[in-house]
Amino acid sequence: MYQTFIGLEVHIHLLTKTKVFCDCRSAFGDEPNTNICPVCMGYPGVLPALNIEAMRMGCTMARSLQCRIPERTWFERKQYFYPDMTKNYQISQFASPLGQEGRIELEGKNIKKTVRIRECHLEEDAGKMIHTGTVSLLDYNRAGVALLEIVTEPDMESGEEAELFIQQLRRMVRYLGICDGNMEEGSLRADANISINLPGKGLGKKVEIKNLNSSRFVRLSLNYEQERQAACLDAGKIIVQETRLWNENRDQTETMRTKENANDYRYFPEPDLPVFTPDREFLKSVDAALVELPRERFHRFQAEYKLSDEQADLICEEKAFADYFESTVEAVLASSGKITLDKAGAAQKVSNWLLSDIKHLLSRENMPLADIGSLKLTARRLAQLVFLVAEGQLSNKNAKQTLEFVLAEDKDPSSIIKEKGWSQISDPVVIKDAVEKVYAAEESTFSEVRAALANGNQKRIATLTAFLVGKVLAETRGRANPEIAGKVLNERIKEL
Ligand code: ADP
Ligand code: MG
Ligand code: ZN
Repeated sequence: MYQTFIGLEVHIHLLTKTKVFCDCRSAFGDEPNTNICPVCMGYPGVLPALNIEAMRMGCTMARSLQCRIPERTWFERKQYFYPDMTKNYQISQFASPLGQEGRIELEGKNIKKTVRIRECHLEEDAGKMIHTGTVSLLDYNRAGVALLEIVTEPDMESGEEAELFIQQLRRMVRYLGICDGNMEEGSLRADANISINLPGKGLGKKVEIKNLNSSRFVRLSLNYEQERQAACLDAGKIIVQETRLWNENRDQTETMRTKENANDYRYFPEPDLPVFTPDREFLKSVDAALVELPRERFHRFQAEYKLSDEQADLICEEKAFADYFESTVEAVLASSGKITLDKAGAAQKVSNWLLSDIKHLLSRENMPLADIGSLKLTARRLAQLVFLVAEGQLSNKNAKQTLEFVLAEDKDPSSIIKEKGWSQISDPVVIKDAVEKVYAAEESTFSEVRAALANGNQKRIATLTAFLVGKVLAETRGRANPEIAGKVLNERIKEL
């Protein structure tokens, strides 16, 4: 009965080698206060210098969010005091964010909508305050690390939509290679703004939930807040404009501070940094960094490889995983042998391998999907395996074993199959030999089949035939192609 408005402010740590305005290492987990210098500590008289790589990554993201990059973009000082910031101001962007007025298409189960991006701007992170017992410690390694802030318009309406936004954004930055997207370590964090109002009345009084470090918390806290605010209005109370925090132990939001008026940060242009004018060369380098984004790839995979929604989504989760899929399919299609697979056929086989065996294998080895490229089972080797099975040269069971040996011995599947003598027997003449041996040993079973055939007991026929196929496989140490073994066996039975 109320209308809900949700806008997100997402901060992402850019994967630059050095900080945004100095040459200090930009790294997570180093010994505290080892990556600092007079510039990021804000000593008097020092001069910041823009890290062009940070600007490039920021603009790459801005373009990927279909933002406009202005002809001139500059920095401001945002003034406030906090112990984790020795300068007493943060260099940020206020009047001329590097990316303006973009959009992202949300697409998920039961969700399909456009969310407008208000802006993307570049700024520096602050240090980290660590509270232990009675003292607070300060680690300034993070001070000056490049942050990109992405601000949406209040276009979302539920916790689910906001969660999906974060998930899509996370995939995007990982595809672009500009952020590791690790929310637990704080590389990607969100502030969520929410208000509700009677339909048609426009935005309500907004509450901001700060510092959410998982997409699940974004959903839970917003849905909690939506209900809290509705109950508040239902009871005839007014909603206080405030900043709240998500308490993950109590599954509720709690007041952090109430701000009656907007903070006055006294923004003014940073006098030590020149205005940045993206020239043609810079814009070309931004273009060069653009990639096919996850959602585009998802749609292409459905159209080109006839993958289902679920398959395409799972395969596109990581760029490296999707790249590996495409390379494998390509290599399968380039293989020559008795059979020819079409693209969709090859894609189904590769997808089945990737989403079951290979995924299990990665998790067993404790390897993230993104590291699939470093597997000893290269795309070319997987393609060989898939093709040998499709050709009937290798049984499924032996294929799985071959996979293990490829990993352990770093060899091609074809060499392992040769060494182990696993190549499947498809020659009917050879299989016939095995059938005759089984006949000699299992005459009584064959008589039973004959009897079952005479009185048309289909169930019994099936059971006995399956038993005999098993015997033929055993006779060939599992190498006979089961389908052909079945055919040869049936012919032999007919001859009885
Ligand atoms: P502030 O000046 O308090 O930071 P902004 O106008 O900059 O607020 O907006 C910050 C974020 O809050 C944006 O993502 C915006 O979409 C969202 N937002 C602003 N007003 C509202 C509102 N009334 N309800 C929900 N979200 C809002
Ligand atoms: Mg704001
Ligand atoms: Zn520094």
